[in-house]
Parts: sequence; structure tokens; C-alpha cells
Amino acid sequence: MFSKETNGLLHKSLGDQSLPLPLLVSQKSLRHDVDDLVAQLFSGLSLAVVADSNTEIALGAQVFRALKSRFDTRFVFLTPSPVADMPTAEWIARETSRCDALIAVGSGTINDLCKYVAFTAGKPYIVFPTAASMNGYLSANASLTVDGYKKTLPARMPQAVFCDLEVITAAPLRMSKSGLGDALARPTAQADWLMSHLVLGTAYDETPFRLLQEVEPVLFDSARGIAKRDAETIGLLMKMCLLSGLGMTLAGGSYPASQGEHMIAHAHEMLMARQPSAAESLPMLHGEEIGVTTLMMAQRQEMLLRQSPNLHPKAFPADTMKALFGDKTTKEAAEACRVKADRIKPAFKPDWNAVAQRLEPVMLSSKTILGILNAAEAPHLPEMLGWNDENVKAAVTYAPFLRDRFTFLDF
Ligand SMILES: [Zn+2]
Repeated sequence: MFSKETNGLLHKSLGDQSLPLPLLVSQKSLRHDVDDLVAQLFSGLSLAVVADSNTEIALGAQVFRALKSRFDTRFVFLTPSPVADMPTAEWIARETSRCDALIAVGSGTINDLCKYVAFTAGKPYIVFPTAASMNGYLSANASLTVDGYKKTLPARMPQAVFCDLEVITAAPLRMSKSGLGDALARPTAQADWLMSHLVLGTAYDETPFRLLQEVEPVLFDSARGIAKRDAETIGLLMKMCLLSGLGMTLAGGSYPASQGEHMIAHAHEMLMARQPSAAESLPMLHGEEIGVTTLMMAQRQEMLLRQSPNLHPKAFPADTMKALFGDKTTKEAAEACRVKADRIKPAFKPDWNAVAQRLEPVMLSSKTILGILNAAEAPHLPEMLGWNDENVKAAVTYAPFLRDRFTFLDF
């Protein structure tokens, strides 16, 4: 489903790390091929098809019907609007305990849950995406809420991703816009990751970005097609989501796709989790938030590169962190910050001209990012997500104290 060049790069990169590339199939419709596709990998196994009420209608019922004629198959039906948390993962593990393999039909939540359950139970899984809404289909970790906080937990790639483009194109528009928002984090994440490499000497790898270089510019140029539900554009978006996930797997972490812009969104989410009034606010999709925080981060990167700021080690604001995020988070954050602070020497003066020269070619201007969000009719301001100024300010200020990643938020 990728170009020859991308495939070559993938096989080379994955081969070096002895990671088998999952079987990737993308067709206008999979209607007649579901059981044949699954039989290529899971012949003779007993299967559990995992879906919720939305993804059952979109594709899950069709997948189940096709498989049950040929395999010992059960349907594991999640409650409406399932949450990717530990109790739900444990419930799925129990429901699928007698099955040999999992078939996830869904997007972010169902994919995270199945990938985590499959990994912990040592079972293979296949995913039928129902939306191009995020980049986690081919990443090797799962994002789950544990004790009220989102955690990145180890998982592994699926055996296969089978894309029915009619189904993915028909997904709610907010989901496709969310996928674009997540994809837009590439330039700000790359700028942060490369800056950390240049300034502090941390590891950095270009391969994940080379995988995206054919698809990304075409996708960003045709962002209007997302708002218009154009099948070709949403197909490109799906490719971008898959390649971005593979890039994370190659990099051995979310570094190429998640830096300062994701840290702001996570910090905000943690703040909201402790504010009772937040429970009433409208739930936003991950990529809707990331589109907005990416624009904030791009503006910040541009401003800081113009100012050539000095770098000083900052004291960990333990009392404020405790008041905002609670004891447990503060303890974990203090440790992450200690590791980061050790690398920042007092009165450290990076050569900003040299840094800016390396960063400029990988960045997109905030004006361009705003144009892409507007073309897709996606949110671009925090208030469009229902975020208030006070929480946004606190998220930007304290996000760098929550993770060991060194980003433009550290200045
Ligand atoms: Zn993301």
C-alpha cells in the first residue's frame, strides 16, 4: 500500500531491527475478502472480534459474519463509548481468554485496548481500522488510563492492518480531522527532538521522517479534502497515520511524533482530571487537541528561535506540582526532571544560529499550520476545545516538569 521507495526504506529499517513488517492491505472495500485475508495469518485459530456499538455498525458485524462461517469466532461487544483504561482491558482479557487471537475493529480506544490485551496475553492480533483518527495502529505501545492518568504501556504491532477505505472515509468527520491534527505534530515534534539532540546531545534519528516525506506534503496541501470527505485525501491520511506509527516503532518510542505539543495536551488532561467541573465539558478527540497545541508550539518555537534564549537549570516546583497534579504524579515527575536537569549545565549557551539553521528546513511555519487546520475546518484555538486561559497557561508552564523530554517548553 506504500510506494516502492517507502517500502524499500521500511524493509531496510525494519530488517535492521529484525521487526517483521505487519501485513498491510488497503482496498476500496474489503467486503468479499475478510475471511480470506484473516485466514492467511490465523488459519485454524479461534478468534475474538472486539468492537463497540459504533464500530459494529461500521464494519464489526460484517467482519464477524465473514469470520464465523470459517473460524471458531466470538463477538466481544464493548459498552458504548468505551474508555481505554485498565478495568476495560482486564474485562476484554477475561472475555477473550479462550480465544487464540484478537480481531480489533475500531480506532484509537479499541486499538489501544486490543493491542495491550494481546501483548499481555501473548496472543496475536489484527486490526480493521474504522477511522484515520490517530497514528497508533502501527506503534508498539498502547496508551491506557491507569489510576486516572494516561500511561504509555508496552505493546506490540499487529500481525496485519486491513483497511477498508469506504469505511474509513465514512467515519465521522471529526475523527478524520483528529487524524490530521495528530499528523500535524510532525514538524513541531521533529523540531523539539532535533533541538534536544543539537543542544543536549540526546539521540535522534531521521528515518521516521523519511518515511513520511512523500505523503506528508501532498496530504497537507489537500487538507480541504478532509472537510469534504474526499476519499483520496482520507486514504492519504490513513497512510500518514500508519507511517507515523511505524516511525515511532522504528525510533523505539514516540519521539518522532510526540514532543512539546503532546506534553501540553497531556498536562491539560491531567489538570482537568483533578477539576470536578471538567467532567461536564465536551470530550475532545486526541488529534483535535494536538492540532491546537501544535499551533501553540509552532508559534513558541518560532519566537524562541528569534530570541536565542539562554538556558538555565530550573528548580523543580514541587509544591505547585503537588497542588496541580497530586502527590503520585509529582513524585514520578520529579525523577524524570532530575534526569533532564542533570544534562543542563549552568549558564549553558547553545549556538542558536547553528541550531536555527538545522531546524528551519524541518519546521512548518505557524501560518502554514493554521492554514492547514483552517482548510480542514479543524479547531485551532484552545477556546474551541473549551479550554480556559488559566488551565492553558498552567499546562504550558508545568508540562516540561512532567516528562524527561527536553523541548522548547524548557525555555
Ligand atoms: Zn498523538
